[in-house]
Amino acid sequence: MTASVKIDITEDTILVGIAAAPGIAISRSHRVNRDRMTVIERRILPAEVGPEIAAFKDAVNKSKSQLLEVKDQAGSKELFEHLYIIDTHLLILDDEMLIGDTLRLIREELINAEGALNRVLRKLRQMFERISDEYLRERRSDIDSIGDRLMRNLLGETHESLADVKDQVIVVAHDLSPADTVQIDRSKVIGFVTDIGGRTSHTAILARSLGIPAVVGLETVTSLVPDGTPMIIDGSTGTVILKPSAETFREYLIKKQHYDYLESELVQFRSLPAITRDNCPMALRSNIDFVEEITAAREQGAQGIGLFRTEFLYMSGEGPPSEEEQLAIYSAAVEQMAPFPVTIRTLDVGGDKFVPEFNLADEVNPAMGLRAVRFSLKEVNLFRTQLRAILRAGVFGPIRIMFPMISGVAEVRDCKQFVERERQDLLSAGIACGENVEIGIMIETPAAVLIADLLAKEVDFFSVGTNDLIQYCLAIDRGNEHVAYLYEPTHPAVLQALHQVCRAAENAGIDVGMCGEMAGEDLYSLVLVALGFRELSMNAMNISRVKRIIRQIKIPEAKQILDHLLSLSTAAEVSAALEKEMSQRYPQVFSEKYL
Ligand code: PEP
Ligand code: MG
Repeated sequence: MTASVKIDITEDTILVGIAAAPGIAISRSHRVNRDRMTVIERRILPAEVGPEIAAFKDAVNKSKSQLLEVKDQAGSKELFEHLYIIDTHLLILDDEMLIGDTLRLIREELINAEGALNRVLRKLRQMFERISDEYLRERRSDIDSIGDRLMRNLLGETHESLADVKDQVIVVAHDLSPADTVQIDRSKVIGFVTDIGGRTSHTAILARSLGIPAVVGLETVTSLVPDGTPMIIDGSTGTVILKPSAETFREYLIKKQHYDYLESELVQFRSLPAITRDNCPMALRSNIDFVEEITAAREQGAQGIGLFRTEFLYMSGEGPPSEEEQLAIYSAAVEQMAPFPVTIRTLDVGGDKFVPEFNLADEVNPAMGLRAVRFSLKEVNLFRTQLRAILRAGVFGPIRIMFPMISGVAEVRDCKQFVERERQDLLSAGIACGENVEIGIMIETPAAVLIADLLAKEVDFFSVGTNDLIQYCLAIDRGNEHVAYLYEPTHPAVLQALHQVCRAAENAGIDVGMCGEMAGEDLYSLVLVALGFRELSMNAMNISRVKRIIRQIKIPEAKQILDHLLSLSTAAEVSAALEKEMSQRYPQVFSEKYL
């Protein structure tokens, strides 16, 4: 959604952006200048090459020292978890494409340092823009943020630090870099709004883990809002209200109290077991992209990793990770998560997950193209390396292998053969492997749903990837905003698909879980338990929310509700019935939203 642009700020001016981190903040705006700089490109004389290169290298070194200083000063535990973002930025400052190419342009094409850097940044941004996967695309913000710092240092501009904010404010910025967010003092910065960014940008992820309400992607908020403007932000709905009237102020104050109360209640669920009222245990697990997220996941009460997306390991810019590199990462994950299992999903590249390194062929229809396990079965050396690393990491604790985008039994058998071959190979070379490494598949295609009974005979567990399953089931491109309104988890076809998968798993006696976004939405928790899911894997921040609902469910009651929902004909009917039911059962949690 984009902001509705208004030039004059009148009372109760409303802007709508992307809800990045929930909660309500009421205060005055504090503008932080992160505007784009004017960069002038010019040709230089050969004699100027030396000084331009020296200036550029100075800027790189200065940027590194600034980031190291931010890292040293970050004190709080929540922030500590995210310092890997600063490390990523430090790595980018050594990146051959960024640094090497800029130096080359200065040296060989005789372009001044700022012009050369600008060109390279533009090229990198364009590369990232081609990515249709939201999470990966937003890694562009890392390039923006490090590029901004580097350019400011090159041009000799100062960088206002968020550590210097004195009063309680809502920060208004074009964008905030991870270094900015790591410096935030939570007693001062009580919310922030930005022009750019999306739900999965680092800024948004950090805001969520810090518990600071945030609205991003407002497009023009920095040009609209002068310093000191009274404002309210609702990070749960993505709403920003400028110059609130007395009535709006009162309304939001009550909403804020209600929200804060529910949040304070949530903390107590972290250490409580995830068990229904009639004593059925559920495994609530976390989805991660980096091993560094595990400490935070444990703190939130995650009982294992239900989905470790491994795509990022392949994006370092230095070629695919070696067996030893992967082993180090997987075994660290396993050791940190023990005694709970870590589920490693094999490389899910292609389709909407573009990894620049692989130079995948342009496909007319990439979502149905050479992606995920299809790619692995073609690029067998990459596949074998990853499987060996997973098998070896199994020595350190419980680990599970999960194959994405399975569409048939033959594919599963091929994958299993690869696993077996690698195991034999390792063992005959005297290299130890985990003994009981479970093998599972993601259920993401309609074909996998239709033959779930056959697939269930082949594997130890299923995990439903609703993000893709809904896309393929309803024929809706998950990244296409024009059909986003049709992307409905409550569509009867989706419910029937989930039902069928759970029945097949139950009949075969294998575990069935879910790791798509639907698993982390507390509105659906009751339905998922009734369907038979016993493992839900989600963003760790949602675990307590889902647990709060689960602990109040009685399975026979939930099944009755499910039966009714399964008898309805449209997604709207199912949603309405579910929202009504949930707001009656859990009025404190859902009444605000749905009644
Ligand atoms: C899914 O498709 O639901 C899923 C969890 O995988 P991804 O979002 O990585 O495709
Ligand atoms: Mg998927």
